[in-house]
Amino acid sequence: MKDSRIYFDYNASSLIRPESVDSVNKVLRSYGNPSSVHKEGRSMRSLIEDSREKISNSLSTSSDNIIFTSGGTEAIDIALNQNPGRIIINSTEHIAVFESAKLLNCNVDILDVDKNGLIRVDLLESLLKKGPALVCVMYANNETGVIQPIEEISKIVKSYNGILFCDAVQAFGKVDISFDQLGIDLMAISAHKIGGFSGSGALVLNNKISDLIPKVSGGGQEFGLRGGTENLLGIISFGECASVIKDMADERNRIKELIKLLEDNLSSLGANIFGYNVERLPNTSLFSFEDFKAESLLMRLDLAGFSVSSGSACSSGKVKVSHVLKAMNISQSMQKGAIRVSLGWGSSKEQVESFISFFENIFNKKVKE
Ligand code: PLP
Repeated sequence: MKDSRIYFDYNASSLIRPESVDSVNKVLRSYGNPSSVHKEGRSMRSLIEDSREKISNSLSTSSDNIIFTSGGTEAIDIALNQNPGRIIINSTEHIAVFESAKLLNCNVDILDVDKNGLIRVDLLESLLKKGPALVCVMYANNETGVIQPIEEISKIVKSYNGILFCDAVQAFGKVDISFDQLGIDLMAISAHKIGGFSGSGALVLNNKISDLIPKVSGGGQEFGLRGGTENLLGIISFGECASVIKDMADERNRIKELIKLLEDNLSSLGANIFGYNVERLPNTSLFSFEDFKAESLLMRLDLAGFSVSSGSACSSGKVKVSHVLKAMNISQSMQKGAIRVSLGWGSSKEQVESFISFFENIFNKKVKE
């Protein structure tokens, strides 16, 4: 039976890629602990190392730099656990970063963004002048898709002897990331955002980070940095997806065109698109219409068969006002109506056209009333 739902929420979780399912199917009946020295154990170990290699290749870095975790949130937690005494956090970071920082006993400075959601580089410099710090700036924002100038930020952080942590959970797979070249110290990525299964992610670290403090020590797995028997199936699907995303330039261009089609049409109906003037992820659009509340629009869209998100949904499923739009100084009426569309490998032109028709109908009816 054909699925009549239209799923436009890839930034929450991607549709599972067929490659991911195939890779897991192949090993579903395999067994053995990757830490065991016998044949079964060694064969599991080699699957894990193979995935590590695929992920490191996709990031142009060494496989020794990849520490498998249970996802982006855990990678963030380990990165922030370094507690250098001082931490600078971009105001539009994912909630996981703010929550991790709360557990630290250190000074936190919040870094403002401009109206497009880009960090204020001048403010970063003045904060760093006060002394070295762990600086948290995400690669791309999960709500707006706005991409930060990471290379420039990295150079500034280095020049003040700081450490740069970059949450690349949304950017990985949607843009090319050359980890070594960018000079990032610590970076978080996650499998379920790129078509793998949830419950697997990684912390990527450069070789200058030598004294990382683990959150789970356990049996010393993952170079002693993340104890516990590895999530074999999750890691295999993660590696497989990482190996295919390298050759996805055509897919990204196709998706970018779909976002353009969507935004051109919604703008002509009066939508305001957030971060419109700056570089964004090719798959993400956050918009709002002045008189519409996201909560009711989401429900109407859901009934009509569209799965999208509001700017910011918390784990309870309730719609909250987005701290990202607040940080961008967007008016309250616009914040309340923010709807996020995030496309992916399974999205089609017909689906986008049908989404546009939904809004055209709303506005036609409104005019008639
Ligand atoms: N960071 C960003 C930017 C995200 O969008 C998310 C998930 O939505 C996370 C971190 C958390 O990742 P995970 O779900 O793998 O724990």
